[in-house]
Amino acid sequence: MEKRPFISLEQAQDIIQDIPTPFHVYDEKGIRENARALKKAFSWNKGFKEYFAVKATPNPYLMKILQEEGCGMDCSSLTELQLCEACGITGSEIMFSSNVTPVEDMQKAYELGANINLDDYTHVEFIKKVCGVPKIICCRYNPGGVFELSASEDGVQVMDTPGDSKYGMTKEQMVQAFLELKEAGAEEFGIHAFLASNTVSNAYYPELAGILFNLAVRLHQKTGVHIKFVNLSGGIGVDYRPEDPKNDISIIGEGVRKKFEEILVPQGMGDVEIYTELGRYMLAPFGALVTTAIHEKHIYKEYIGVDACAANLMRPAMYGSYHHITVLGKENAPCDHKYDVTGGLCENNDKFAIDRMLPKIEIGDIIYIHDAGAHGFSMGYNYNGKLRSAEVLLCEDGSHKLIRRAETPQDYFATFDFSEFKSLTEQ
Ligand SMILES: *Cc1c(COP(=O)(O)O)cnc(C)c1O
Repeated sequence: MEKRPFISLEQAQDIIQDIPTPFHVYDEKGIRENARALKKAFSWNKGFKEYFAVKATPNPYLMKILQEEGCGMDCSSLTELQLCEACGITGSEIMFSSNVTPVEDMQKAYELGANINLDDYTHVEFIKKVCGVPKIICCRYNPGGVFELSASEDGVQVMDTPGDSKYGMTKEQMVQAFLELKEAGAEEFGIHAFLASNTVSNAYYPELAGILFNLAVRLHQKTGVHIKFVNLSGGIGVDYRPEDPKNDISIIGEGVRKKFEEILVPQGMGDVEIYTELGRYMLAPFGALVTTAIHEKHIYKEYIGVDACAANLMRPAMYGSYHHITVLGKENAPCDHKYDVTGGLCENNDKFAIDRMLPKIEIGDIIYIHDAGAHGFSMGYNYNGKLRSAEVLLCEDGSHKLIRRAETPQDYFATFDFSEFKSLTEQ
C-alpha cells in the first residue's frame, strides 16, 4: 500500500521553527486510534491487557498516552522499571519480562509489585533468594526447534528458530518451575512466549495462542495450578515496505478467540486472561525521523547526506532494514533519481537507503523516514560523538510539543570528570 507521511511539509516546517532537524516526531491521534483498535479486537476476553514494550520507545509522554488507552508497560531492566514508577505506573500495570536478570532489577520489579516473568528455570531459586516469590508469577516458554507458519490464507510465511534463541524454558522445566513456585507460595500463574519477530501474517498470533493454550491445559493438569493469563508477547509487525502485507488486528483477535474457544473453554479455563506485549505494532508507524538534506555527492554513485545518522535510527545499519522515505513536499513528484541516503558516521553501513528511487533532492529538502516510532530513537547511540535527537509529539489538536530535548555536548561529556583538565572546563 502507498505510504503517506502523517505530517505535511508545512507542518514539518512549523516544527523546525522551534526544533531543528533531526528529530523524531510521533502522531498522538494515530497512536490512540491504533491502541483502541487493538483493545476492541480482544474485547471478547474479559481480562485482556496490552503491556507496551517500553524498550521500543521509552518516552514518558508516549507511555502516558498508552496508559490512558488502558495499556500497561512491559519492562526488562531497572531503568525501564524506574521510568514506569516515575510515570505512576506500578503493580500489575507492569509486566517484567527480562532475561539474564541482575539482582537489583529483580528486587525492583518485586518491590513495585510487577507481574514477573521468569526467563529460566534457575530463576526460580534466584527469585526465592533475592526477594521471594510473588503471588502472581509467569514463566517464559521456548518450544525449541523451528517455528514455521507455511504460507496460509494470507499467503505470508513466518519462520524463526526458537531452538537457537536464548529465551525461555523447556516444557519439562515449565512443569518443574510451576511445581516449585506453587510450593513457595505462588497462587496464580502466567505463560509467555515470543516465537517470531515483525510478523506480517494474521496467522502468527493465533498459531502462537494455540501452542500456549495447549501448554496451559497441560500445565494445569500436571501441576493443578490456576492459569491466570497467557501472554502472547510481541512480534506483530508492520508494513515497512509499500508492498508488504498489513496486519489486520481484528482478524488476529478473532483468530485468537477461535483457539481460545477450541482449546481453553472446553477445559473450564475460559477465565484465562490474554495479555500482549507489543512494541513495534503500537508505535512504529506513528513515529518518523525527520531530517534535512545537507550535502550531495557524485562519485560512482549518487549520494544525499542528511543531518541524521545511524545514531538516530540504527535499524538499517544493524539489520539492513528497509525504511520508506518521503521527500516532504515532493509526495507526487516522479521517483526518477537513484540515491544512497546516508548519515555522517565514519561507517559505510550508515545508510538509510541504498539505490532508492526518489524524486530529485535539493539541499535543504526535508526528508521523512517512515516507521521509526519503535526501536528507532531507543536504539540510538553515541558513536562518533553523535548526539541523540529530540522527540516531538504531534498532538491530536495539530499543535506540537517537545517531549524530549536533543542531547547537547554537555550530556555527552557528563560521565567524565574534567576537574583534572581545567582549561576544558573553564571554557
Ligand atoms: C522486544 C520485546 C517485545 C516487543 O517486541 P515487538 O517486536 O516490538 O512487538 C515484547 N516482549 C519482549 C519480552 C520483548 O523482548
